[in-house]
Amino acid sequence: MTVSADPISTPPARTPGGAIRMDGLVLRDETVARLRAEIDALGNPHVCLATVLVGDDKPSQVYVRSKHKKAAEAGMSSKHVELPATASQAEVEAAVRDLAEDPDVHGILVQLPLPNGLDEDAVLDLVPAEKDVDGLTIASMGRLMRGREGHIPCTPKGVMRLLDRYGIATSGQTAVVIGRSLLVGLPLSVLLARKGIDATVTLAHSRTKDLVAACRNADIIVGAAGIARLITAEHVKPGATLIDVGMSRTEAGIVGDIDFDAVESIAGAITPMPGGTGPMTIACLLENTLEAARMLGAVRR
Ligand code: NAD
Repeated sequence: MTVSADPISTPPARTPGGAIRMDGLVLRDETVARLRAEIDALGNPHVCLATVLVGDDKPSQVYVRSKHKKAAEAGMSSKHVELPATASQAEVEAAVRDLAEDPDVHGILVQLPLPNGLDEDAVLDLVPAEKDVDGLTIASMGRLMRGREGHIPCTPKGVMRLLDRYGIATSGQTAVVIGRSLLVGLPLSVLLARKGIDATVTLAHSRTKDLVAACRNADIIVGAAGIARLITAEHVKPGATLIDVGMSRTEAGIVGDIDFDAVESIAGAITPMPGGTGPMTIACLLENTLEAARMLGAVRR
C-alpha cells in the first residue's frame, strides 16, 4: 500500500490546547479532488461503486447516501441495491452474485451489519477479491497479511492516511489499538506493525486488564472500541497522537472513544469526532474503487 499524500502546505489547525487537529474532512476533500483529477486525466472512464443495503437501519441509510454523493463528486458512478429486512439469505446472495458478475460494476460494498439471521460470511464470500472495496473478504484479509496487492479495509486505511498526512512518526513508536474487530482494530494493528511503518503495536480489547497501563506510555492511541469517552487524561502521555474511530450515539450527539475536551491539551495531535476518521473511511472506499477498476483492467494503470 502506498500511503502517501501531498505534504502539508500550510500550518495545520490546532485545538484550543495546542494539539494538531487531524482534520478528516479536509483530507477527504483533497482525496476526492485528487481522484476526480485522476479520472479526468484518464478520459473519464466508467468507474462504478455498487452498494447493497439490507433493512431500514437509519444510520446505514445515511452512510450509504454519503458514499454515493462522494462517489459522484469523484467522477464515479454508483449503483444501489436495497432489500427489505425480511430478505432471505438466498435473495441477498442473489443480489451480490449479480453485482459480482456485472462487468459494469467495479466495487461492491455490502453495508454491515446485516439484519439478524443472515450469514454475513456467506454473503461476503461471494464478493470477488478485486471488487472487495471494503477489504473484508477472506481473500483481501489474506492478501493484507501476506503484504500482497489487494484492498485494505477502509477505516484502517483512513487512519494510516491521517497519520501520513499529518507527518506523525510511526517507525519505532509504540501504538495501542483499542478494539480487535475484523473491520477496524485487527487490520489496523497489522498495518501499523508492517515493515515500512514499523510501530510496536499493542492490541487492547475488552479483556485487557489495565487499559491505563497499556496506554500511558504510548506514542499513538487509536480508540476503536465504541465506548463513549473511554480514553481520558490518565491514559495519555504528553505529546501522544490520538485517533478516534469509535462512534457512540448519545443524547449529546455522536461521541467518540476519546474524551476530546479532557485530553486535547495533553495530546500532540488528535482527530475530532465527528470530522476525523469517518470522512476518511469514505475517501478510502473511493480510492479502493478506482483501484478495483484498475485491477479489473477497466482503467489503465
Ligand atoms: P466491534 O463491536 O466489532 O468491536 C469493538 C471492540 O472493542 C471489541 O474488539 C472489544 O473487545 C473492544 N472493547 C469493547 N469494550 C472495551 C473496553 N472497555 N476496553 C477495551 N476494549 C473494548 O466494533 P467495530 O465494528 O470495530 O467498531 C468500533 C467502533 O468504531 C464503533 O463505535 C463503530 O461505530 C465505530 N466505527 C467507526 C468507523 C469510522 O469510520 N469512524 C468505522 C467503523 C466503525
